[in-house]
Amino acid sequence: MVEEKMKVPFDVEQIRKQFPTLSQQVYGKNLVYLDNGATSQKPQVVIDAIAKYYSEDNSNIHRGVHHLSQVATEQYENARATIQRYINAPLLEEVLFTAGTTAGINMIAFSFGETLKEGDEIIISAMEHHSNIVPWQMLCERKKCVLKVIPINQKGELKMDVFESFLSEKTKLVSVTHISNTLGTINPIKEIIDQSHQAGAKVIVDGAQSIQHMKIDVQELDCDFFIFSGHKVFGPTGVGVVYGKKEMLDILPPYQGGGDMIAKVTFEKTTYNVLPHKFEAGTPNISGGICLGTAFEFLAEQDLDAIAKHEHHLAKFAEEEIVKIEGARIIGTAQNKTSVVSFVIDGLHPFDIGTLLDKQGVAVRTGHHCTQPLMDFFEIPGTIRASFAFYNTMEEVEIFIKALKRSVEMLR
Ligand SMILES: *Cc1c(COP(=O)(O)O)cnc(C)c1O
Repeated sequence: MVEEKMKVPFDVEQIRKQFPTLSQQVYGKNLVYLDNGATSQKPQVVIDAIAKYYSEDNSNIHRGVHHLSQVATEQYENARATIQRYINAPLLEEVLFTAGTTAGINMIAFSFGETLKEGDEIIISAMEHHSNIVPWQMLCERKKCVLKVIPINQKGELKMDVFESFLSEKTKLVSVTHISNTLGTINPIKEIIDQSHQAGAKVIVDGAQSIQHMKIDVQELDCDFFIFSGHKVFGPTGVGVVYGKKEMLDILPPYQGGGDMIAKVTFEKTTYNVLPHKFEAGTPNISGGICLGTAFEFLAEQDLDAIAKHEHHLAKFAEEEIVKIEGARIIGTAQNKTSVVSFVIDGLHPFDIGTLLDKQGVAVRTGHHCTQPLMDFFEIPGTIRASFAFYNTMEEVEIFIKALKRSVEMLR
């Protein structure tokens, strides 16, 4: 078990003070930032860590004999250890730095893909982000594998009976999102992992939307891979993590070749470096990795249960108010949901509403949210999505609802 540290009591005003971007005005209005599903804002500690790295510690890692290189290397490896502790990965070398979720899924799709043969089956779901669809389509084309898609019901929940019927000895890999970025559905991931394992398949969890909302324990989940982006979890852009079980990472071939990932290079034969370096070719995003560690140190101090309650409260209130608007419909009404509220309003285009909300200082996302097949399923061009983080307040939700009603009136 991970050691339980003292948590800071949840106080939204105290938290807001640590996020400088939140206290600005746009078009003369206080910014209400409700686009956390796309990216999160950064706490001052992360911003300071970025400045400190480039002001004091900048150097290449894993290669220099000199002082600065050793300082940078130590910080980078400490960040890896912080993330290892946070997700409760058994081994340090199971935590790989990548550029983000997209980069991580592509990496595993390539390397795992090398072990597959014609007719092997891969399962994804109907609510996947494009980055958990397209790499598998590319792989299936390359290796003549078969892609199966778990369907969903009208509430936006996976049809688990169909999933079970898909599993067979042909199933090699199941790659599903923990939480839908568009619907907010929290999938029964433990059940999916256990059933897949019983069928002999490996499981990738796309954790891009769960890592910032709930405690993640990769040993408890027992997933083979857990992948997420730094920028959605209060860290910098351009960095992310692939957790992979050592037994898997040991047998998979490397993804990219280059510096750092080698043990010995000759023109006749090259041998590869040990984990995690085998999967980390080239100079990485050093500052990104270090400062993602800072973001996780910050997160480790927060009371995640209190945060989940707060976020749930905001989303529930928003939903209750949205459905009072004539012609409004929530897209994604799963029993088990996180603080993502997607909706449409009859006869009005999401983009027009998003534009009018923006003019009132409210930042939401509109469109297909990189889930076009999901839009096709619901037969809509896109949604308006308000996604809440722990620094959002009830007052902000009220401003959002008022601005939304005003936008609808203007368009009707
Ligand atoms: C954002 C997101 C991705 C892609 O993450 P990038 O940071 O753009 O690489 C993948 N899956 C889900 C569920 C996401 O929300």
